[in-house]
Amino acid sequence: MLLLGVTVILQSASIREAVETSAPVYSWVIFCAGILLGWRFKRIQLAVALGVLFAAERAIAYFPAAGPSAPVGRVVYAAVALLLPFDLAAIAWLSERTMWTWAGRLVEGAILIQPLAIALLLRPELASVAQALQHGIDPSGLHVTKIPAIGLLAFLVAIALTALRFVVRRTVIQASLAWALLAALLGLNGDRAATTVYLATGGLVLIVSLIETSHRMAFSDELTGLPSRRALTDALMRLPEHYTIAMIDIDHFKQLNDEFGHAAGDQVLRLIGSTLTRTEGGGRPFRYGGEEFAVLFPGKSAAEALPYLEDLRETIEASSFTLRGRDRPKLRPEKPVRSIGRRPTLAITVSIGVAEPDEPGVEPDEVIRAADQALYEAKHTGRNRICLAE
Ligand code: GH3
Ligand code: MG
Ligand code: MG
Repeated sequence: MLLLGVTVILQSASIREAVETSAPVYSWVIFCAGILLGWRFKRIQLAVALGVLFAAERAIAYFPAAGPSAPVGRVVYAAVALLLPFDLAAIAWLSERTMWTWAGRLVEGAILIQPLAIALLLRPELASVAQALQHGIDPSGLHVTKIPAIGLLAFLVAIALTALRFVVRRTVIQASLAWALLAALLGLNGDRAATTVYLATGGLVLIVSLIETSHRMAFSDELTGLPSRRALTDALMRLPEHYTIAMIDIDHFKQLNDEFGHAAGDQVLRLIGSTLTRTEGGGRPFRYGGEEFAVLFPGKSAAEALPYLEDLRETIEASSFTLRGRDRPKLRPEKPVRSIGRRPTLAITVSIGVAEPDEPGVEPDEVIRAADQALYEAKHTGRNRICLAE
C-alpha cells in the first residue's frame, strides 16, 4: 500500500516540486528514526537493512549521474544496482540470531567494505570493470529500464532468494525485506527524486514491520498463538454492557508435566489453544497465563454462553492427545498404528468457571475474580466440569 501510494504521488505533476524538495528530509527522518528504533528494539537485522538502504540512497544522491560528476555518478549508480539487491537478500537470509554468528559477521563485513570497493572501481586500472557494470540492456531501443544488465540480473536473483526465504520463514520482517527489495528496484529505475522517495519508503516498510512485530509479540502468546493476557486486558476495556467471562484451567497439569516432561506439557497447551480457537457463539479465547485460559463472550449472558462452553469441555474430554514421540511418522499412516510403550493417548480434561456482571457498572476485574472463584469450585467438586458464579 505504501509503495502504491508513493507511486501515485510521484506520478502527479502538480505536487512534483513539493516532493522533490521534501524527499531528502523524508529520507533522513525515516532512516535515522528507523535505525534508532532497530537498535532500541534490538532488531539489528532491520537496522542493518535500513543502513544499507540509506547508504545506497545517499550515494546516489551525492553522486548524480548528470552534470560535472556524471562519470563518477554512473559508476556509483551501477555499483549500487549490483550490490544493494544482494545486500538485502543476504540480510533476509540472516535472522536476528544469526546476525552474530560467523555468517552474520561475514555479511556485515562484506557490506562494510562496499564503499571501498566502489572507490576502487573509480580507479583508471579498473575502468573496464566499471564499464562492464554499466552495460545496459536496451536491445530494441525501447526504454525499459535504466538499470544496467548486471544490476537487473542481481535484482532478479535477489528477489528469487528473498521470496524463497519468505516461504521458509513466514514472518512480517521477512515479508518487509522482500517489499524493501521491490522498493529498491522501483527506486533505482526512477529519477533522482524517485530514488530517494522509493528507498525511504522501503525503509518505512521496514519500520512498520518492526512495529507490527512488536505489537504481535506483546498481544499474542508465543506458545499457543492465542491472544495474550495483555490482549485480554485490552479487550476488557471495550466490552458491551452484557458479557460473560469463562476461566479455564487444565486438570492435573502438573502431574502431566512431571510424568511426560515439560515439552509434552507445551504440546498439550498448544492443542488446547487450537481447540479454544474453534469456540463457537462468538467466544474469544486468550491465554491467561500458565495452563489457564480465558474465553470472553461479548454480548452474551452466562446462560447463553454455557452451551458453547459445555461443547468445549466435551470436545477436550473426547479428544485424545497423542504425544509426539521421536518415532512418530511425519505423515499420517494409512492404517492407524497402535501406540507402543509409554506414549499413550492422554486423556485431558479442563475445569471451567463462568461469571457475568450481575449488575451494570461492575468492573471486569470483579467478573474475572468471580469466574476464578467458580473455577475453584469446579476443581473442588471433582474437576472436568463447569461451575457458574453465584
Ligand atoms: P489442578 O487440576 O488443580 O489445576 O492441578 P494442576 O496440576 O493443573 O495445577 P497447578 O496450578 O498446581 O499446576 C500448574 C502447572 O502448570 C505448574 C507448571 O509447571 C505448569 N505450567 C505452567 N505454565 C506452563 C507452560 O507454559 N508449559 C508447561 N509445560 N507447563 C506449564
Ligand atoms: Mg492452574
Ligand atoms: Mg491446572
